[in-house]
Amino acid sequence: MPTSVRAAVAHRGATEFQIETVLLRDPAAEEAMLRIDASAFCYSDWIALRGDTGLPALDPDPYPVVLGHAAVGTVLETGAGSRHRAGRRVIVTATPECGECFWCRSGRIDQCERLFVPAPVIGALEGGREVRAPGSSATYIEHTVMRDIQVFPVDSDLPDAWLAMVGCGIVSGMGAVVNVARVTPGSSVVVVGCGQEGLWMVQAARILGAERIIAVEPLAARRDLAARVGATDVIDPADGDPLDAVRALTAGRGADFGFDAGGSVAAVQQAFAMTRLGGVTTFTSYVARDTVVELPLFDLALRGRDLRSSQSGRLDMARDLARFLPMLESGAVDVEAMLGGLRPLDAIGETLAAARDRTEITPIVVP
Ligand SMILES: [Zn+2]
Ligand SMILES: [Zn+2]
Repeated sequence: MPTSVRAAVAHRGATEFQIETVLLRDPAAEEAMLRIDASAFCYSDWIALRGDTGLPALDPDPYPVVLGHAAVGTVLETGAGSRHRAGRRVIVTATPECGECFWCRSGRIDQCERLFVPAPVIGALEGGREVRAPGSSATYIEHTVMRDIQVFPVDSDLPDAWLAMVGCGIVSGMGAVVNVARVTPGSSVVVVGCGQEGLWMVQAARILGAERIIAVEPLAARRDLAARVGATDVIDPADGDPLDAVRALTAGRGADFGFDAGGSVAAVQQAFAMTRLGGVTTFTSYVARDTVVELPLFDLALRGRDLRSSQSGRLDMARDLARFLPMLESGAVDVEAMLGGLRPLDAIGETLAAARDRTEITPIVVP
């Protein structure tokens, strides 16, 4: 029996969501039905709403869709053979963890072979049109159905809005620093772009004991937040060449660790240029599927420049929940600095605007 729920539905070519009723299907084998208690709004969903991500999950035309890939919820029902139990509090992530494929078994869960699969149907609109979940995840909705491998039980008393940020912003941003770059104590770090991901990177670099944390960000409010959460220096790229500014702060060399969280080709190139010879640049920007970035081969081949890709911070949820939740619980990270407004599903337009216009770091949808 389908369950009638309300959702923020994205139609092809639309630039706003529509609140509509979705007749949600029952969970299939190895799936669970969840009540979504809170979902972090991700800037990438604004890109997906515009329809220009080119992600395999959005290919071929999957619209109409329900977006959202970082949430906290409660298991309501389970399909046959599901590993989950009704009543459990769970975290939803963007990246699956099947545990069985070559990538999961070789320690690269971030590349699980079930990551990019065609968007599954989760139900239908009144009138019968199928509704899909790109990335196998739909969280801007009251209840959802999801495959087991993207749902992780959590034992925590932390507020819903905090846990909603774990599945994307926290694992991606903190994971890039802790799991991918492995920033060392006393090192210098530069972060290009201080949105959700960049600010979590700044926080993680501070916790790992980086001595100098340089934040490059054009928006004054975000530079202030970067300083609040741990940046020792902030640079406004409008104040002259930011590369010169970073070099001036790092004995002329550039930072030991560079991070790109700017969402553009320019941010990738800047983060690379701002990292010293023999240093490590970690990049996370995603622009479009066929985007090409030019980098100097001399530096890559002869100057010991190490480039690292950080898909969801090379997450491993069991390990990362054990690592990151205590940081949230103890106050080691400033969570309040990251939170935007908490708004009901009906206010999805305001939530979208807060992310799109960069007036909030992490707006939260509370279905
Ligand atoms: Zn995201
Ligand atoms: Zn796998």
